Amino acid sequence: MTDTGPRVPDAGGDGDRGGSGDDAAPDDGTVALPCGETVHRSAFDLGMREYECACGERHAVVMDMHPPSRFVPEAVVDVLRETVSVGEDDAFEAFGTPHLMGSVLEEFPDDVTVVDATDDGRVGYAMLWATAFDARTLHEHVVELVVELMEHAVSHARDDAARGDFEEQMLDFDVAEFVERYRRNRDWRDEYDAPA
Ligand SMILES: [Zn+2]
Repeated sequence: MTDTGPRVPDAGGDGDRGGSGDDAAPDDGTVALPCGETVHRSAFDLGMREYECACGERHAVVMDMHPPSRFVPEAVVDVLRETVSVGEDDAFEAFGTPHLMGSVLEEFPDDVTVVDATDDGRVGYAMLWATAFDARTLHEHVVELVVELMEHAVSHARDDAARGDFEEQMLDFDVAEFVERYRRNRDWRDEYDAPA
């Protein structure tokens, strides 16, 4: 490890990093999901968290305007904004949902479809991510990645005491339990999640 700080991959804004393989398809507005099903991108509305697919699975759906507090508390988001540097030519200046999903895409390249609808005025989102797994599983993966980002940030901190404290806290941290509690305490019917 020779890198100097935490960073996340770019958000895949040019649409050529999707895990679905066939990138040369003409843009007819359809989306190839990781499971192989094809749907039109207007099938996703802004309040959607999961897509009930014809394959029988529920796929997590995330859009660029969903706040990262969908997954972790605002206080954690603030820490990430302060410690994680985003790419210089990044379309999204502040650390946010696109960066979280960029990390998920890097970790699970075959399980994430990225849709760039920036030039499509008919849908209400610019970026959309659909995953092979359901919203709860995605939530757990995101929290695991956030913990890694935080660990990386803390490992570069000069303050040994802070580092020790954090590592100790992380020993007791149960991702599944955190996700369970977080999801129970949020109002998922709201189109735009307000901070908890
Ligand atoms: Zn499916």
